[in-house]
Amino acid sequence: MPPAPLSRSGKSRRTTDSPISYFIQKALETPGLISFAAGLVDEGSLPVEEVGAAVAGIVADPLTGRAALQYGSTQGLPELREQVLQLVCDADGVRPSDVNLTADDVCITTGSQQLLYLLGEVLFDPGDIVITEAPSYFVFHSLLQSHGAKVLTVPLDEHGMRMDALESLLERLRRSGDLARVKVIYTVDYFQNPTGLTLAVDRRAKLVELARQYSTNHRIIVLEDAAYRELRFTGADLPSVKRFDPKNEFVVYTSTFSKPCSPGLKTGYALMPPDVMAPLLHLKGSHDFGSGNLSQHVASRLIASGAYAKHAEHLRNVYRKKRDLMVQALETEFRDFPAARWTVPAGGFYVWLTFDGIDTGPDGPLVPAALEAGVLYVPGQFGHVFDDTDSVPNNECRLCFGVATEDQIPEGIRRLRKACAAISAG
Ligand code: PMP
Repeated sequence: MPPAPLSRSGKSRRTTDSPISYFIQKALETPGLISFAAGLVDEGSLPVEEVGAAVAGIVADPLTGRAALQYGSTQGLPELREQVLQLVCDADGVRPSDVNLTADDVCITTGSQQLLYLLGEVLFDPGDIVITEAPSYFVFHSLLQSHGAKVLTVPLDEHGMRMDALESLLERLRRSGDLARVKVIYTVDYFQNPTGLTLAVDRRAKLVELARQYSTNHRIIVLEDAAYRELRFTGADLPSVKRFDPKNEFVVYTSTFSKPCSPGLKTGYALMPPDVMAPLLHLKGSHDFGSGNLSQHVASRLIASGAYAKHAEHLRNVYRKKRDLMVQALETEFRDFPAARWTVPAGGFYVWLTFDGIDTGPDGPLVPAALEAGVLYVPGQFGHVFDDTDSVPNNECRLCFGVATEDQIPEGIRRLRKACAAISAG
């Protein structure tokens, strides 16, 4: 007799496999396929030697070796928290005290993904509202679904999240009495996953101002996901949204060593107000009582030795070249294609390609045609919220140039053009 069925929690029942895992799996299974789907980093430039030297340095001294191999603290390695604080403040051109921050306001996390999850645990009850960009980071949407949060979206233009639309949404929620359920406004503000767009400076200031203005009964938290910030390859860095929160009240800033260094370290970090930090640490205590201590020691050594800054600089050159190759290939292959347009990111590794009249969706004709031609992209639909399917555009693709090699990029775009031609002719 089979055993009685499992009785799963509401949270588990709300949690489904990420819709893009099918696409990642497909890429792994299909020999010769060029994948622009997975958001993986450039393979050839992973810092094998630098990490090797850092680990060797750590274990060369039994005292530091043992410290790194022992459990750490829930909040994270103190020297790494100091370094991270300095990194973010240097990028913003401020001293920590100017923005009311100390290393106590920094938490080291198991990738920035853990911070996104834990912050949800701290703030959301089922039915609470989270405002995100349309489109936004797919995995964040899945996570919100687990938490039972309701997602409302704000459109983007070439300068990032539209503040006029955000203001109208907040005003509408105030009038309907639903403002009380709004907990977070989420932005991926540098070279956004999935569009590659960046939030303009004036909008950064406005975002904090709106959060403050509409925080009547409780504080609305701005969750700034700066995962790609250090991968800028054109133009000057922009101040963070956090920079416009001088008393450390409204903005949780999160970033990661995954993109500018190595995702294998699975080490991220966040700066946040003290009354967010305290409950978050309680939850993190139950989760893992601290992120991998060895990874944190490695990250700290890489920063201290200058290897981290050097490597990030190298990566910026690698990704600039790949961006140029992808954009040149798009110009060559899609110049004459009716109403094909694409973003040209100033950093990160995503290009957002939009068509008129081609269904790029998971059940549309382009996915099988692209597979047949030997290339894969992520349907843009996944970046939109699915319980509002009527208004979800189905003519967009996310193209990631992170993991594809320099040879594969032009060839992959040629294949995509071939797939588009095949379905347009068919
Ligand atoms: N935020 C964004 C926007 C991302 O694209 C990713 C990784 N794909 C993450 C957070 C999480 O990265 P990690 O956990 O490796 O730091």
